[in-house]
Amino acid sequence: MRVLVVEDEPDVASHVSRILEASGFLPEIASDGETAWFLGDTEDFAAVILDLGLPTLDGISVLKRWRQAGRKMPVIALTARGNWRDKVDGINAGADDYVGKPFEAEELLARLRGVLRRTGGHAAPEINVGRVRLNTLTMQVSVDGIPIKISPLEYRAMSYLLHHHGEVVPFREIYEHVYGNGDPTSNTLEALIARLRKRLGYEFIETRRGAGYIVLAAKD
Ligand code: CA
Repeated sequence: MRVLVVEDEPDVASHVSRILEASGFLPEIASDGETAWFLGDTEDFAAVILDLGLPTLDGISVLKRWRQAGRKMPVIALTARGNWRDKVDGINAGADDYVGKPFEAEELLARLRGVLRRTGGHAAPEINVGRVRLNTLTMQVSVDGIPIKISPLEYRAMSYLLHHHGEVVPFREIYEHVYGNGDPTSNTLEALIARLRKRLGYEFIETRRGAGYIVLAAKD
């Protein structure tokens, strides 16, 4: 899943990126407010981690603009630890949660998974769809209770499809959440899905010709 990391301190930005990448997310960094606003307004992110103190346009203004334009992706505000004014302003501007700096990797990940579950309608760190189970804490996928080997890219694809089960996910959308930028018309994604089907051992991921992929809890 693609996550926008908005942070002007390079050390913090790369630290957050590493944490996200190690947990199966695809991070993309914006280091100033204007860039962040533009990316969040024009591209599709599963979530945003937003520092509030930013050059060119502050975090609160970025968030307000997104919300006024109807952008609904979950946003976690990074605030100065103990600064209650930051937290209140962040939440009033439309943040879904906040993490005080400095933070532990585990806290940030827990909050991120929390907002993703709430917006995706899932209450547990595990998602069960049909015979497939995905654990977002251990990054493990199992079929009929048996863990399968899965690569980081395959995990991203599986996780995104399961978070949107029952919906047709357009090819371009899933491509962006697995690879970020690139040519979505290439057959890279098709090859990835083919490998994933092989690993799962059955036709869990269905192709909707000309539209996208879908996973369903039960087959007709
Ligand atoms: Ca800052």
